[in-house]
Amino acid sequence: MSTTPTTPTPDSKAPHYPDQVTGMYILARALKNLGIDTMYGLVGIPITEFAYLAQMEGIRFVGFRHEQQAGMAAATHGFLTKKPGVLLTVSSLGFMNGLTATTNATVNCYPMIQISGSSVREPIDLDQGTYEGLDQLNVAKGLVKAAYRVNKPEDIPTAVARAYRAAISGRPGGVYLDVTTPCLGAIMDRADAEKLFFQPVDVCPAMVPSPESVDRAVEMLASAKKPCILLGKGAAYAQVDDKIKTLIESTGVPFYPMSMAKGLMPDNHPQSAISCRSTIMEKADVVMLIGARLNWLLSRGHGKWNPEGKFIQLEIDPKEIDCNRPIAAPVVGDIESSLDAILAKLQGKKMAMDPDWVPSLQAESKAKNEKFLQRLVPQTVPMTHWSALSAVKKVLEAHPDTILVNEGANTLDDTRDAIDMFLPRHRIDCATWAIMGMGMGSTVGAAIATGKSVVAVEGDSAFGFSGMDFSTICRFNLPCTVVIFNNGGIYNGIGVNPSNNGDPAPTTLDVKARYDKLGDAFGAQTYYVTTPDELLKALTEAIASKKPSLIDVQLAADSGKESGHIGYLNPATLIPFTV
Ligand code: ADP
Ligand code: MG
Repeated sequence: MSTTPTTPTPDSKAPHYPDQVTGMYILARALKNLGIDTMYGLVGIPITEFAYLAQMEGIRFVGFRHEQQAGMAAATHGFLTKKPGVLLTVSSLGFMNGLTATTNATVNCYPMIQISGSSVREPIDLDQGTYEGLDQLNVAKGLVKAAYRVNKPEDIPTAVARAYRAAISGRPGGVYLDVTTPCLGAIMDRADAEKLFFQPVDVCPAMVPSPESVDRAVEMLASAKKPCILLGKGAAYAQVDDKIKTLIESTGVPFYPMSMAKGLMPDNHPQSAISCRSTIMEKADVVMLIGARLNWLLSRGHGKWNPEGKFIQLEIDPKEIDCNRPIAAPVVGDIESSLDAILAKLQGKKMAMDPDWVPSLQAESKAKNEKFLQRLVPQTVPMTHWSALSAVKKVLEAHPDTILVNEGANTLDDTRDAIDMFLPRHRIDCATWAIMGMGMGSTVGAAIATGKSVVAVEGDSAFGFSGMDFSTICRFNLPCTVVIFNNGGIYNGIGVNPSNNGDPAPTTLDVKARYDKLGDAFGAQTYYVTTPDELLKALTEAIASKKPSLIDVQLAADSGKESGHIGYLNPATLIPFTV
């Protein structure tokens, strides 16, 4: 992308510094003005110089090896900070690679802005064939929350303000900002450029729910016999942890966290119903959803709701209400304003909750947890997922302030179930789309956004999508440890090719691969472990070192099954394809 012999900029005049500036300078200043302090991306024509200018303006530039991972980092940065994460891409392929992550951010409601350079418009519009020509704005439009193109340098501050507002106001999401090559390179007198900047006011306005909706919700919650509060990643994103704690503890209502809401309240809290998902679905008479959608994760093959049950939904996007099930008490507003109003209304209110409800959930949790822990006893070598997790659990639960990034099939499901979380926003995973290939990007984004240590627990297949960006962890010397559960395949490593032509099966990868050597290539601290004891020692040492580390965990090839816990999503065949 950066190796074209000539720079195809129509106006290749250089500005006279310091009296003149370019569109690129205006873009960097406009981002800085809005408090953007970090940008993730991969440079090349036409945005290389812009990245340097951003660095000159004090914006941190985190350069990646693949735009998709830079985008995953920006999205994770947005989720953790409540400010848009920024991704910078080159035109055409770089734009397309990044767009995958921007689309994923939109599905997951993470605020993010993808800024991409784009080619000169005229030959694109006439389809004449030009360097990296693509009608990027129109490609992006159907996939993101909002998309804008800026053609003139004078419009850049407005474009940046619009993109910023679109990304974080209302339901957060991914925004695409297209900046054409002529606009990036356009020259202006500095004095004129300085007059363009303005400070946008109230970029993420509060959205206060109507008093009637609050009354309705409070009445319904207070009169419920078997209520439950269901927390989603919107609740984690909202950063109102104390208010959520107050709501749960003052009402005594049990709670169930979705995957990325784990830790918003400690998983071992006495009101946690995390082990009682089906009981909650079948028996609760009122479920209060806070920043959670009733999408595929909470319907279809994932359990059946009590047909008599009612829902209260605290949600910022009015279009979400009734989307899968009727919502008896919608509270449309931002979670903070909604909780303020609900907590005020609940003051002195008597709860009608059945006194046996929470104790019965606690008894169920105790029995299930004891049974679950039996799985985690270290077993034979080579290890299964569970024996490896017995070690990971001990180390991570002793370091609760470590952020856990997690993807894979069995590696995702089993790790989520095994590792308790105790702090908000400490679990990042493949979220609503259930995609693979967010690992290294999200690890970098989490470490840069928070300065905390990050541990990524990756299936070997999942790691393959983003593995090269382990080098980004090393280049930026981040306190991150990547743990690869290698069972040699997608789901497992015992697939059989039914044709016997000597090729590997479609699910087969590399059970003998030494991923630790990949880490060696970039100067990381590396380990190859075959027992839970070795894994425990390696992970403890890696976290303590705060250095880029990679642990190759050798599992048995037959550990793991198709689709983890959700086999119903994958149509079955009559051909036996594993040994
Ligand atoms: P989970 O997968 O954890 O259930 P989802 O991503 O499905 O979470 O749902 C998150 C919901 O939270 C989305 O519907 C989103 O519109 C909503 N949301 C995000 N931020 C806020 C906020 N600040 N206030 C209210 N709702 C929010
Ligand atoms: Mg695997």
